[in-house]
Amino acid sequence: MSRWWRRRRLMCPEVRRTLQRYLDGEVDETWAARVRAHLEDCRRCGLEADTYQALKDNLEGRGPEVRDDLLLRLRRFAEELVADGGRDR
Ligand SMILES: [Zn+2]
Repeated sequence: MSRWWRRRRLMCPEVRRTLQRYLDGEVDETWAARVRAHLEDCRRCGLEADTYQALKDNLEGRGPEVRDDLLLRLRRFAEELVADGGRDR
């Protein structure tokens, strides 16, 4: 790759296109550093990164929404057990 390419500041579409892979740690160090620099400068992309990160946390079971969902499922399961028990008696 030529030097101008590496030194050029990233544009928002470039950042957004690779944001998920960046958060997954799947981009190389050079690219990660450039994305990081852009996210510090650019509010909108920074916000987007936060959203992706929150989404990722949820998918990995670390977010509050997933925990609520799990609680709901556990509650339904418990209710089913209670309902079954009622029928058996
Ligand atoms: Zn941007």
